Amino acid sequence: MIRRTKIVATLGPATDSGDTLRQLIAEGVNTVRLNFSHGDAEDHRRRAGQVRAEAARQGCHVAILGDLQGPKIRVGKFTDSRVRLKNGSEFILDPSRPVERGDSGGVSVDYSQLAQDCSPGDCLLLDDGRLSLRVKKIVGAAVITEVESGGWLSDRKGINKQGGGLTAPALTEKDQRDIRVAAELQLDYLAVSFPRGARDIHRARELLQQAGGTSQIVAKIERAEAVSSDEHLEKLILASDVIMVARGDLAVEIGDAELMGVQKHLIRFARYLNRTVITATQMMESMISSPVPTRAEVCDVANAVLDGTDAVMLSAETASGQYPVETVRHMAEVIIGAEKHRAIQRPADVLRGNYPAGDACIAVAAITIANHCQDIRAIICQTETGNTALLMSRVRAVIPIYAFCRHRRICNRVALYRGVDPVLMAVAGMDGPSRDQKAVNHLKQRKLLAPGDFVLVSRGYQQDIGGHTDTLRIVRVE
Ligand code: PGA
Ligand code: MN
Repeated sequence: MIRRTKIVATLGPATDSGDTLRQLIAEGVNTVRLNFSHGDAEDHRRRAGQVRAEAARQGCHVAILGDLQGPKIRVGKFTDSRVRLKNGSEFILDPSRPVERGDSGGVSVDYSQLAQDCSPGDCLLLDDGRLSLRVKKIVGAAVITEVESGGWLSDRKGINKQGGGLTAPALTEKDQRDIRVAAELQLDYLAVSFPRGARDIHRARELLQQAGGTSQIVAKIERAEAVSSDEHLEKLILASDVIMVARGDLAVEIGDAELMGVQKHLIRFARYLNRTVITATQMMESMISSPVPTRAEVCDVANAVLDGTDAVMLSAETASGQYPVETVRHMAEVIIGAEKHRAIQRPADVLRGNYPAGDACIAVAAITIANHCQDIRAIICQTETGNTALLMSRVRAVIPIYAFCRHRRICNRVALYRGVDPVLMAVAGMDGPSRDQKAVNHLKQRKLLAPGDFVLVSRGYQQDIGGHTDTLRIVRVE
């Protein structure tokens, strides 16, 4: 059984040890995430090199995604590394306080504008919403709050404002340095944290291109502002290549109760706009310290698959958990189980809108044929930029889409697309029909096609120009 929904695994100390990385790739991880919030450029350089070497050894394509830290606002440190906040007591957030000297009365914050962005009555959430503070008054740069929901608070935990409205710009100085690292490492994807709108994405792309990078840009949807209206959201999605439903911060800002509805909307909207979508955070959280997932987690992963996400992501489960390999194995099983469901085995809607003669027409024709002709076993999509494969995978099909490409970079990129399996193939100097035959032979050799099968084959009139797919053939395998 071929798995269509992809797995993104975050690298960290847990994947550095032994041959964990080899095992993760062998279990089918399609994309790895380098988290720029942790580790330095040297760690990312080393891990990127290891991933590429291991993928080459195993003969598969694994995309590398760099995730910028963004303006995540954090409290400073405590003299005793943590404090217990009691309900009803006063707690002061003060950017001018010494960073290492927090106590049960207050702590520093690394955002000097906090007081300007807060008003009495606002609710501030700490540590992904585990604790909450109600703003009482503003005194200069300090925010005086009352603890509404207390508990242990330790060093460097994040702060969010319920409903959004913290105005820190999306790209910090550190992010700008990390963008240069992303360019140097030729990452396939670069994720922008906390974008407010399309402008933040354009700015990131501009900086990346200035640094010589070609990564596709991922917009992490994790601010209430980002989902405030469909008009705004549409511009943000269209500015990006991929969106991430970044449920950790998003849920804190919009409230847990609305999260699932928003997730479904985001996945549908991204696919409708011909963009890719990753569903992230706490998918198998308990597996950080348990060898088996809870049923709720199993259902969460399955639900995202049924929603139509391209990929599901693991964070601490693989980066620092005790069972990274088991987590990926369980996730892959759950995905395959969910993909058997009739609802997603049914052909789905066509691409939106009116499109110029070219890729999109061929993509729609291919999917229509695939969905209405039982004899077709697979689609061979010969692609220069990956775009035709992307368009094909926006429409639900039940057979595999093999993207044949001569660029390793594009093979890695399409590894994230749902239902698309990349194949690197050199075709220099060959005419169209011989290229088709070479691709068919490749799949036959791998036993993915058998004599008598029918396969759909698409290609362009000239193999080295993107956007010129003009041919769709039905080929009978000999
Ligand atoms: P993070 O982003 O893990 O970088 O916080 C994902 C999320 O907020 O869900
Ligand atoms: Mn986040």
